[in-house]
Amino acid sequence: MPSILRCMSCGQEYPIQTLLYTCEHCGNLLDVQHDLDTLRRTVTRSLFDQRLGTLDTPYKSGVWRYKELIYPDLPDHFIVSRSEGNTNLYPAPKLAAWAGVKTLYLKHEGENPTGSFKDRGMTTGVTQARVLGMRRVACASTGNTSASMAAYATFAEMDGIVFFQNSHIALGKLSQAIAYGATCIQINADFDRNLELVREISEKLGIYVLNSVNPFRLEGQKSIMFETIQQLRWNVPDWIVCPGGNLGNSSSFGKGLYELHQLGLIDRIPRIAIIQAEGANPLYLAYQHDFEEYKPVHAETIATAIKIGNPVNYAKAARTIRWTNGVVEQVTDQQIMDAKALIDGQGIGCEPASACSLAGARKLVEMGVIQPHETVVGILTGHILKDPDATIGYHNNSLENLSAAYPNRLYQVEPSVDEITRILETKAH
Ligand SMILES: *Cc1c(COP(=O)(O)O)cnc(C)c1O
Ligand SMILES: [Zn+2]
Repeated sequence: MPSILRCMSCGQEYPIQTLLYTCEHCGNLLDVQHDLDTLRRTVTRSLFDQRLGTLDTPYKSGVWRYKELIYPDLPDHFIVSRSEGNTNLYPAPKLAAWAGVKTLYLKHEGENPTGSFKDRGMTTGVTQARVLGMRRVACASTGNTSASMAAYATFAEMDGIVFFQNSHIALGKLSQAIAYGATCIQINADFDRNLELVREISEKLGIYVLNSVNPFRLEGQKSIMFETIQQLRWNVPDWIVCPGGNLGNSSSFGKGLYELHQLGLIDRIPRIAIIQAEGANPLYLAYQHDFEEYKPVHAETIATAIKIGNPVNYAKAARTIRWTNGVVEQVTDQQIMDAKALIDGQGIGCEPASACSLAGARKLVEMGVIQPHETVVGILTGHILKDPDATIGYHNNSLENLSAAYPNRLYQVEPSVDEITRILETKAH
């Protein structure tokens, strides 16, 4: 059976080449659904292991290495790929000790071509735009989606259109979208309103929407789970901890792990912990009442990548929590920035939102949810250079309502041997 689109709520099915983001019958989210019964007979761990180290497109990509699980029947010539993925999984013993667990790995998605995990979803999203014959692609963005879409659009010779929100956009991300040549429009509204606008205008003008409401984005992003588990030689960690904003990534993780399990490629499913910022926590609030009630919030946090009050993938994230026996937790901006300073201090580095993974892991250990003997993989979603203002503001203690627990100082001195010597001698040991 070929892959199809299927409504996660009413089960309505659509051919995979239908230009559709949500169900025509009930309005709920769509899944790209593959024929798992056929795949169970054909897909093995060694199929994917054999492709490691290949120089050939598309299998050298850390997304398309798993093509059978991403988009099985697609002719290769449609694929728009920059060999995304193939990101490092760092053992982090010092940070493990700080979080209170025996084993902690950090999967650094900031090592993707444009510096965030969004590239894994963009390679599949832009590929589908090509399949559908679309010439223009658009997104509303807090930053990284726009940077990624702008790059992949021009790479595929399409026009990219970005709807930026009115408030703070991290400098690294804004500069990327402009540099890659997307049409950048800053709109006097927040992210959540922009997402509504981009969907309305795109429908009117025949533009393809590449926000994570697009189910093909999630197909690419689920490869983070495939690659992590392959890097662990198919050993399954106890926990995956990741930040949650629009909830596309965590939704894709649940789907990817569910599929690996269905296909017999793993024998148990790791638990997923989704970490939100306290000021942008609608999933956390709904989780407190077993997802019986969902209310959008007004979002405020220094972690701009997750400053989202009405996440479009709410229902899929709730499903991830059910499928993986997962949990949702929240952390403060202070906890986020202190955890980031520690990740940065290891030479690994990340942008603020990514540090939710470490801050959240520590909190869950303190609460007794994660056990000290368990193996934890934290997902670092974005690169340290994405938001230099936040990093510098932290270290010179100029961030509002925040006081740096781990500041590094910038010394400023006259060109004097004595003065410099004095600094180095007090700094030593
Ligand atoms: C997009 C993004 C997030 C949030 O991911 P969602 O899929 O929207 O939940 C977190 N961190 C970074 C760096 C991002 O770019
Ligand atoms: Zn439906």
